[in-house]
Amino acid sequence: MNPLRSLILAAARNGSIRRVVATAPVSRDVVRRFVAGETTSDAVAVTRRLVEDGLTVTLDYLGEDTTDSAQAEHTVQSYLELLDRLHAEGLADRAEVSVKLSAVGQMLDEDLALENARRICRAAEAAGTTVTLDMEDHTTTDSTLRILGELRKTWPWVGAVIQSYLHRTLDDAERLAAEGSRVRLCKGAYKEPESVAYPEMTEVDKSYVRCANALLAGDGYPMFATHDPRLVRIIAERAEAHGRKPGSFEHQMLYGIRPEEQLRLAQQGHTVRVYVPYGEEWYGYLMRRMAERPANTTFFLRALLTRS
Ligand SMILES: Cc1cc2nc3c(=O)[nH]c(=O)nc-3n(C[C@H](O)[C@H](O)[C@H](O)COP(=O)(O)OP(=O)(O)OC[C@H]3O[C@@H](n4cnc5c(N)ncnc54)[C@H](O)[C@@H]3O)c2cc1C
Repeated sequence: MNPLRSLILAAARNGSIRRVVATAPVSRDVVRRFVAGETTSDAVAVTRRLVEDGLTVTLDYLGEDTTDSAQAEHTVQSYLELLDRLHAEGLADRAEVSVKLSAVGQMLDEDLALENARRICRAAEAAGTTVTLDMEDHTTTDSTLRILGELRKTWPWVGAVIQSYLHRTLDDAERLAAEGSRVRLCKGAYKEPESVAYPEMTEVDKSYVRCANALLAGDGYPMFATHDPRLVRIIAERAEAHGRKPGSFEHQMLYGIRPEEQLRLAQQGHTVRVYVPYGEEWYGYLMRRMAERPANTTFFLRALLTRS
């Protein structure tokens, strides 16, 4: 149990703390390290900078857990505006979008989320880029994979995400490792019960390697989302063993975390995609990432102390 968890979650709900954190100059810098800003222009400016550094990008408009359809519509409109801008500014071949289905109505109605995701995919296609569906807590996994299946009938390039902390994930990895299938593998960021997820980090890491092997052995396009230096090394080794060349898979890391490692991998010829969150809802994003799991708290605290 993370001793900071309840404190951080209480802070996340407290309006006065939120105002202080949001306006203090020091925390503005901290926030800006992990979040591109609040507007489409902020997101585009950060994307341009990363692209100029030889990186690729996936953008996340912050606004998960939507429980009203007006908010879901606002999220869809924000993605449509962003995709237009990426196209207009010549960035769409290097920057895609990541979408949380809960932000476009999944908690209200699966069909609404599917229809909203379709609108975003249509706009991505027109802009000349792709969409990845983020994976959220385990109660949404089947629904998210159902929606993925529907979207892929029209847009086979829609990216899936699987989480190595779930017991089910090796099966999902094997099933998803088909030709043309873009699959992001991450450890998983939600607090999950032992009935569905490995409680021990060592088990989560071993599962990550098993799933990575399954993806590399298949015909799809694996996207390895981790900052873990050990896993990055193992991926390099396994990719070579499977005869995978740079460009037939990619590395993904969060904006602001291990930026020098991102550049190092890119300079070695790898595709490195930086996950860039932006939007007015950044406060909840930061607080939840810290509170969700013990590893995430230390992960962000460590990141504040070192940029390497
Ligand atoms: C691109 C991307 C997309 C994601 N999408 C999703 C998603 O859709 N669904 C979901 O549930 N989760 C998602 N996640 C979050 C993910 O599941 C993990 O919670 C998060 O990435 C932390 O796990 P980690 O693999 O980086 O390893 P951790 O176990 O957090 O860290 C492992 C090791 O990495 C190293 N490390 C970490 N940070 C630093 C640092 N700042 N400096 C130096 N070393 C460091 C340390 O050696 C540390 O021990 C995503 C993550 C990324 C990167």
